[in-house]
Amino acid sequence: MAAIGPAGAIVYLNGEWVPLSEARISVLDRGFIFGDGIYEVVPAFASRLFRLDQHLRRLDNSLAAVRMTNPLTPARWHAVLNALLERNGGGDQSVYLQITRGVAKRDHVLPEPVPPTVFAMSSPAVRQSRQPVTAIVCEDIRWKWCQIKSIALLPNVLMRLQAQEHGAYEALLIRDGCLTEGAASNVFIVKDGVVKTPPHSENLLPGITRDLIVELLAEHRIPHAEAAVSEAELRAADEIWLTSSVREVVPVVKLDDHPVGAGVPGPVWERVVMIYEQFRNAEVARAKAGAAA
Ligand code: PMP
Repeated sequence: MAAIGPAGAIVYLNGEWVPLSEARISVLDRGFIFGDGIYEVVPAFASRLFRLDQHLRRLDNSLAAVRMTNPLTPARWHAVLNALLERNGGGDQSVYLQITRGVAKRDHVLPEPVPPTVFAMSSPAVRQSRQPVTAIVCEDIRWKWCQIKSIALLPNVLMRLQAQEHGAYEALLIRDGCLTEGAASNVFIVKDGVVKTPPHSENLLPGITRDLIVELLAEHRIPHAEAAVSEAELRAADEIWLTSSVREVVPVVKLDDHPVGAGVPGPVWERVVMIYEQFRNAEVARAKAGAAA
């Protein structure tokens, strides 16, 4: 079999460190059978995990929503994920972690709880957040609990596929006439200098990057609102940005073959991405100084 993932990568599986190519789970794992599990993706910059506590809080919320308990304490997660980073060479990485309900005879309902399957892997991150992208608008075909970071991502995969078939990077999703988020990102628009993003609800994932951008907009007194964005507003926006832990803050320059604003990254994005990068670099520097102290 061809190697998948970086050669020599070491992963964490149920308390053990194993080469990625040797990591094995049962075909009866409920993650494999039902997509019955929760995940997180945490970015690391210069070997420092960024906003890990926020990711762990969202992990707990997702697990609680599907009636699972977190098998590891926050302190243990810190230790495991930092060790994972170190074992894979440090630097800029994306850490993926997943917890499934475990291995059991196939049945929708478990007679008794079983030990969960706990998995984490890390791969080198290619930072390309300043690279503009294109997007399409598409119907949000997902279920009603989109605030849960479920591993069952078939609708998201199909919507990204639809984008790809149109030569675009991301699909921006519309439910009941309003923007929810992207298939793998949150979305911000700018109109007449005011930034807008849909509020937290069951229609979208409470993105860690989204929440940080909202905090930074407030701190820097940039006019903004967490409010519904209609499809018409989305299509008439001066600027559109995507946010995610891996891609950070990305400008969308074309939507359904029409230029967004002037068809180039806008001035508000320029300002906000600079503020974001300054914040992120300062956090990383603080974490490094803390470790050295
Ligand atoms: N929405 C969806 C559906 C996503 O998959 C992601 C990426 N994980 C996001 C939003 C962005 O969330 P975050 O900033 O926490 O990566």
